[in-house]
Amino acid sequence: MKKYNFNAGPSMLPREVIEKTAKQILDFNGSGLSLAEISHRAKDFQPVVDEAQLLVKELLNIPDGYTVLFLGGGASLEFCMVPYNFLIKKAGYLNTGTWAKKAIKEAKLFGEVVEVASSADADYTYYPKKWSCPTNIDYLHITTNNTIYGTEIRKDFDVPVPMIADMSSDIFSRPVDVAKYDCIYAGAQKNLSMAGVTIVIVKNDALGKAPRQIPTMLDYKTHVDKNTMFNTPPVVPIYTAMENLRWIKSHGGVEAMDKRANERAAILYDEIDRNKFFHGTVKTEDRSLMNICFVMNEEYADLEKCFLDYAVSHGMVGIKGHRSVGGFRASCYNAQTIEAVQKLVKCMKEFEAAH
Ligand SMILES: *Cc1c(COP(=O)(O)O)cnc(C)c1O
Repeated sequence: MKKYNFNAGPSMLPREVIEKTAKQILDFNGSGLSLAEISHRAKDFQPVVDEAQLLVKELLNIPDGYTVLFLGGGASLEFCMVPYNFLIKKAGYLNTGTWAKKAIKEAKLFGEVVEVASSADADYTYYPKKWSCPTNIDYLHITTNNTIYGTEIRKDFDVPVPMIADMSSDIFSRPVDVAKYDCIYAGAQKNLSMAGVTIVIVKNDALGKAPRQIPTMLDYKTHVDKNTMFNTPPVVPIYTAMENLRWIKSHGGVEAMDKRANERAAILYDEIDRNKFFHGTVKTEDRSLMNICFVMNEEYADLEKCFLDYAVSHGMVGIKGHRSVGGFRASCYNAQTIEAVQKLVKCMKEFEAAH
């Protein structure tokens, strides 16, 4: 049976990206060696890093003065690297969910943190919009897509301070005005590559201002100065990222990804709103195009397991909701197909008809 992968992360990648990676793992560029057993200093590998960096710059239309890094440690390490490198006295954070809270916790180790706005009062079911940004903060940190709760802000705020964004789960799904940010980071395993690499886009001029000594590996400047090759980078995940960036480009770039995301989400949210069994969990205008969360209507709550089993038996993978929300979550990152979403909708309709 064909499987439809709705995993929240690590998650679906285009089949051809997996196949190309598999081929290079067996024999890298006809060298007789595996991509997994070559030196990151091998002359054939540097072009992979170069192309991946270039594609990131091209796809996001990054202005001069930024460096694209491929680091280890996941987005979670960036939660501490960001304040280590950028927090001078005081930073502002939007508290929009679990990941934002984790970022806030780390920032508090380095200075004062103000929660500029929060949606904790309603279990993170909306994206706060009526707030004003203080001018006396070093940066404003935002989480553009809240993977667990399924809210997203698909625009770049206008604020009087530099922004820093965790874009782990929606990077490359829309155009971004990078000039508004001092730093953008994303664990790759949602929208870009396999687990093991974190992409960081950092403004060179913004570095070197924090009044503290930074351990070598946690200092962005170390990695900027060596153009992301300071130590052994995650070779295979970078290769996969490069192939996926090629795929995104050949499929029309981030504008096309944006359009695809809107199409997929419309199909699924329309069914969630129509079907008598389900409802969405977040405020309509803040619905994520990436992580589509829905639950059983209260009167049918006892059918939850039944629907999950039905969907799984029809090839749906990874649609069980996160434990803090319950119900269901269909993650629809860049590689997700319209066909998969239509199959899920079919399951929902059939289930409705059968019960
Ligand atoms: C998954 C996720 C993280 C954590 O990523 P790791 O790479 O596992 O550390 C952080 N932020 C967001 C928005 C995420 O979706």
